[in-house]
Amino acid sequence: MNSAANEFRKDFKIFSAPENKDLVYLDSAATTQRPDCVIEAVSDFYRTSNANPLRGLYSLSIKATDLYENSRKTVADFINAPDSSCLIFTRNTTESLNLVAYSYGMNSVNEGDEIVVSCMEHHSNILPWQMVCRAKKAKLVWLESSDDGVISKEEYEGKINSRTKIVAIAQVSNVFGITNPVSDIAAFAHRVGDNGKGAVVVVDGAQSSPHMKIDVQQLGADFFAMSGHKLCAPMGIGALYGRKDLLDAMPPFLSGGEMIEYVTRESATYAELPHKFEAGTVNAGDAVGFARAVKYLDEVGLENIERNDNNLAKIIMDGFSNIPHVHVIGNSDSAKHCGIVTFTIDGVHPHDIASILDTEHVAIRAGHHCAQPLMQKLGVGSTARASAYFYNTQDEAVRFVEKVSKIRGWMGFKD
Ligand code: PMP
Repeated sequence: MNSAANEFRKDFKIFSAPENKDLVYLDSAATTQRPDCVIEAVSDFYRTSNANPLRGLYSLSIKATDLYENSRKTVADFINAPDSSCLIFTRNTTESLNLVAYSYGMNSVNEGDEIVVSCMEHHSNILPWQMVCRAKKAKLVWLESSDDGVISKEEYEGKINSRTKIVAIAQVSNVFGITNPVSDIAAFAHRVGDNGKGAVVVVDGAQSSPHMKIDVQQLGADFFAMSGHKLCAPMGIGALYGRKDLLDAMPPFLSGGEMIEYVTRESATYAELPHKFEAGTVNAGDAVGFARAVKYLDEVGLENIERNDNNLAKIIMDGFSNIPHVHVIGNSDSAKHCGIVTFTIDGVHPHDIASILDTEHVAIRAGHHCAQPLMQKLGVGSTARASAYFYNTQDEAVRFVEKVSKIRGWMGFKD
C-alpha cells in the first residue's frame, strides 16, 4: 500500500465531509474512524434483521441470533482463537480486563501471591489488579522498562517467579507504541509461575489488535482483551478471548437474563460458554459491525497496515529530529512505534500543543494517556501523542511535522 495515494481513504466518508475536508486526524490510538462498510453493516442489521437474539423462536430472532453468532466466529478467527465459544463479547478492553480480574483474579489469587504488571500499562490494566491485590492481600509487582521502552529478559525473569499468579501486560503500549515481548514473557511465566503450575497471562490487546496479525495461541495468551472501536468497529463492543478450561471454571461476572440454564427461587445453574459471560440483551448490531470491521482489515491486509504505520511514524520522527526542542518519548527506531509518536516540546504545555494544532485542523491527543504511573516514571505530567493509521497519508504526516515545527514560533519563542 502506498500511503501517498491512499486507496482506502475513500472508504471513510468522514474525511470527505465538507467540515472535515482539511482535517488531519492523528488520534487513532484513542479511537479509529469507521469505513462505510461497517456503518452499512450495522444499519443493515437494524433495517433488516433486528430482534432480540438468543431468545425468540420466530424467524427474525433466529436470523439475529445467527448474525450475532457468526460475528463471534469471525472475530474469534481474526485472532485465531481455537474455538469461538472462548470469545466473549464485552463492551471494550476495560470491561474484558475487569471480567478477568473479578471472575478469575478474585477467585484464584491468595494472600502472598503476586500479580505482575508493566510500568507502561493503561489504567484499565492496572486498577483491576490493584483491586484484586487489595482484596486478597497479594502484591502488585512492576516490570520496568528502559527509557526507550524495552522490557529486558533480565527484568521479567527477575520479577516473575513461583509466587506469580497472574502476569497482565499490554502487547503494544499506547504511549511508547512499542511491542512488548509477550510470547517470551508468557512462555517464561507458564514455566515458572504459580509454583510450577504456570502463571496465567492476561494480554491487553487494545493497541496491538488494530496493527498486527494476532494469534492468541502462538502468543501464549491465556486471556486476550480488545476493543472494537480501536480497529474500525463501533464503540461499545469489545471482546475477551479466554482459555476454555479457565473460562469453564470461572464463575459469571455479571448475572441475570441470558446467562442461565435454570433458575429456582433459591439458586441457578449457568449457561455454557460463551453465554455464561454475556448477561442481558447482547449488543448484536455492533457485534455485526465488529465482524465486518475485522473482515475489512483483512481485506486491507494487516501486513500493509503495519508497513504503512511504520512509514508514517518514520516520516514524523525523521521530521521531528530536525526540529529543535521537540523530544520523542520512547524508542529511536520508528519501526518500533506502531504508528504512535508521543512527544513533548520544550516550553510548551502538551494541552497547548493540541489546542494550537486543532486551530490548524490537526487532531492529536494530549494528556497522561491513562498511563499516569508511566508519566510519573518518565518525570512528565503529560505529553502530546500523534497516532496514525492506514487511512492517513504521507502528505498528512509531512503537514503535521511542518505545523509542529512552527508551534514555538507561534507562541513567541525566538528560536
Ligand atoms: N489498554 C490500552 C493499551 C489502551 O490504549 C486503551 C485505550 N486507550 C485501553 C486499554 C482501554 O480501552 P477502552 O477504553 O476501549 O476500554
